[in-house]
Amino acid sequence: MNRPYNFSAGPAMLPQVVLEQAEREMLDWHGSGMSVMEMSHRGKEFMSIAEQAEADLRELMGIGDEHAVLFLQGGASSQFAMVPINLLGDKRQADYINTGAWSKKAIAEAKRYAEVNVAATTEGDNFSRAPEQNELQLNADAAYVHYTPNETIGGVEFPYIPETEGVPLVADMSSTILSRPVDVSKYGVIYAGAQKNIGPAGLTIVIVRKDLIGKARADMPTMFDYKTHADNGSMYNTPPTYAWYLSGLVFQWLKALGGLDAMAVINERKAELLYDTIDASDFYANPVAIESRSWMNIPFTLADPELDGTFLAEAKEAGLLTLKGHRSVGGMRASIYNAMPEDGVQALIDFMRQFEKQHG
Ligand SMILES: *Cc1c(COP(=O)(O)O)cnc(C)c1O
Repeated sequence: MNRPYNFSAGPAMLPQVVLEQAEREMLDWHGSGMSVMEMSHRGKEFMSIAEQAEADLRELMGIGDEHAVLFLQGGASSQFAMVPINLLGDKRQADYINTGAWSKKAIAEAKRYAEVNVAATTEGDNFSRAPEQNELQLNADAAYVHYTPNETIGGVEFPYIPETEGVPLVADMSSTILSRPVDVSKYGVIYAGAQKNIGPAGLTIVIVRKDLIGKARADMPTMFDYKTHADNGSMYNTPPTYAWYLSGLVFQWLKALGGLDAMAVINERKAELLYDTIDASDFYANPVAIESRSWMNIPFTLADPELDGTFLAEAKEAGLLTLKGHRSVGGMRASIYNAMPEDGVQALIDFMRQFEKQHG
């Protein structure tokens, strides 16, 4: 089946082989006579799916025993609140690095619970870069330091892991998790909504250092306490079972491909192809500083914004979907997560060159 290439920022493309496997297993998972959607989350069939997915994610990311892996709902947006609720303990202050739209949302929510110190902001540069380590004004009394390794809207990705002098580091990895290897031991908390680079919407993965669990504010809902979920294997209530299963299929796909080292080589190659095309032309432009350019989300503008509508219509005609930029920035955005094949990026580049020839 020949499907178009979907450049959506999220929910995003899934690997076709994963969708085909889900299709084959839809009515009868492994002879159980049930669809995964119809299974009890506490039955042995789903328990085996859940455990396998966690084991595979731990293997892929190199997650050690000192971290718990939680399979939650509520999206990354719920983590904007759960992080301060769980990590402040008897402290009141938290450090946030502001690199764009998602950082700002995290900061706004944290202000409901914490005294937020903005340790660095690149707003003065129109969020076109990540700050350098020596720009971070970290507060030794902060309960944690929060940052957004990849800003999905601005297309800005940190080229390094911030050093926080022992203060727990918290990362909203929604749009970069699994795109390359990462040293999980450096993090207090990593969280990500699944719908970008993991699986379907509805699942939120939280990787949290076990010693940070158990300090949640007592006046908060039970469901917002990491301990509730850590103590119950993420089955305190009904977890998003089908999204959990499908994410597990994605983990197996990644393992078969050679893991995150192999994925990183492919992702870097895809991003380079597209940035090279943009930089080689006077017709397309990307505003992000070279060293902070995202491998996953690549915004670009046309020299003449009047052509945006034509570009999108002709792209769609050519089987290239969802290239419209975020409503807050305009222009185009190509999200090229793990599931976007290299052929898809090549097709986009061929189209861009052709479009420039015709309209440039
Ligand atoms: C998409 C996204 C979010 C919001 O995720 P939800 O799961 O919709 O709450 C938060 N942060 C980043 C970096 C994102 O890309």
